[in-house]
Amino acid sequence: MAKTHRLYIDGKWEDGKETMPVIDKFTGETIGLVPLADKAAVDRAIAAAHVAFPAWSRTPAHKRYQVLTKACQLLEKRQEEIAAIICREAGKAWKYSLGEVSRSIETFRFSAEEAKRIHGETVPMDASAAGEGRVGFWLRCPVGVVTAITPFNFPLNLVAHKVGPALAVGNTIVLKPASTTPLTAIKLAEILEEAGVPAGVFNVVVGSGGTVGEWLTVDPRISKISFTGSPPVGEAIIRKAGLKKVTMELGNNSGTIIEPDADLSAAVPRCVMSAFANSGQVCISLQRLYVHKAIAKEFTKRFVEETKKLKVGNPLEKDCDVGPMIELKEAERAEAWVKEAVKEGAKVLVGGKREGRVMQPTVLSNVRSEMKVMCQEAFAPLVSIYEYDTFENAVAMVEDSPFGLQAGVYTNDLKKAMYAVDRINVGGVMINDTSIFRVDHMPYGGNKMSGLGREGVRFACEEMTSIKMVMIKP
Ligand code: NAP
Repeated sequence: MAKTHRLYIDGKWEDGKETMPVIDKFTGETIGLVPLADKAAVDRAIAAAHVAFPAWSRTPAHKRYQVLTKACQLLEKRQEEIAAIICREAGKAWKYSLGEVSRSIETFRFSAEEAKRIHGETVPMDASAAGEGRVGFWLRCPVGVVTAITPFNFPLNLVAHKVGPALAVGNTIVLKPASTTPLTAIKLAEILEEAGVPAGVFNVVVGSGGTVGEWLTVDPRISKISFTGSPPVGEAIIRKAGLKKVTMELGNNSGTIIEPDADLSAAVPRCVMSAFANSGQVCISLQRLYVHKAIAKEFTKRFVEETKKLKVGNPLEKDCDVGPMIELKEAERAEAWVKEAVKEGAKVLVGGKREGRVMQPTVLSNVRSEMKVMCQEAFAPLVSIYEYDTFENAVAMVEDSPFGLQAGVYTNDLKKAMYAVDRINVGGVMINDTSIFRVDHMPYGGNKMSGLGREGVRFACEEMTSIKMVMIKP
């Protein structure tokens, strides 16, 4: 019998009138039932966060640090238990599920440390004649209640990127996790409760984006919306949010360039991992691979050989590389995109087939920029190899995208590296690595359709605070 879980509101565990099954994405088995929050439950969660804010925002930094540090310790103790939940509800291969838990511990640790670094600055008031004789400084203040809306693909670490900074700066939170992966978020609530987060400071409500997500977007008691997900949903939220602070972490069709001087023994396995980890369902997954014509044949041969070695199937098996996709309709869409590309002239070098939710890692060549597999976000285990002639053309093609999250360039030529940094309008350019590189304290986020604002703990803390200027006339 699958366990029935509860919502976490105002420090209490609540049942709901209706429940929703959460399934193992590989076997289809029901692994848990979660209550769906109705309007009254969402209202209670917002009210609780609102009431808890004054006390939590005045809780000294060293105490917020202690609570977050305790959360790290508890996560550390329960790594395998949490990885198993991620593995089953998200269909993420075991090694990547375990990797996500250890990254989340680091994200919470960075957040604990950041709690002690919420600095302001003095202002040299006498730089203006009108400011003579006055003292000025600004403070960073928590904004209030934060709505956190998160996607399925990193059900713990992308939650940690919102919850850690919010708690660090003294905000309170209502979290709505993705409907396909709510169990990890509920587990996190247990951990934060045990870590000593006071009642009302952190709340989890489960339900669809169109209901719970929308209620959490429009409520006037919410001061800030931190959203990670797809660009259309991000845009819809911004339109309804009104005058609230927003951070939007959205999608990408990430490109990486391979110059002839690249060390292929390092680049090939790294590119394969970057394309297929988490079945390509990573916002910075390698989707467009631009390889110089001088090495294209050799690179492609080695890339295909390496792709064939991947173990595809049950994510719970310790050596699995590629598990199922999140939903059948997403796997069907990926397969249809491949078929459409082939119809338009693309060649499948490996993969292209699907069984249920499991899409084989697929490598395409003979692609053109207008094909869906190139110009839209695939969010699937699909990568296209494009042979280019000049570096400038390759840079222009990577830049020719409505998205702007991250890009990669393999080159040892500093001038070329800096040319790419200058010309590609993205939040991050990774030299001698692919678009997928991320550590959790670096600034991370997109330009163009990839989003607004930055995460990465220190940067999320800045986005979750507002500046208050103080002037003193002695
Ligand atoms: P999604 O469909 O946009 O859903 C994300 C979250 O938004 C879910 O919790 C969803 O709830 C909720 N939602 C849906 N409609 C809503 C509405 N009208 N109002 C408020 N909330 C709403 O995205 P996804 O399929 O889970 O994730 C994939 C996307 O996320 C990709 O585009 C990927 O690139 C992007 N992503 C970006 C980053 C980054 O850091 N830039 C990281 C990871 C993923 P339901 O689950 O109930 O629909």
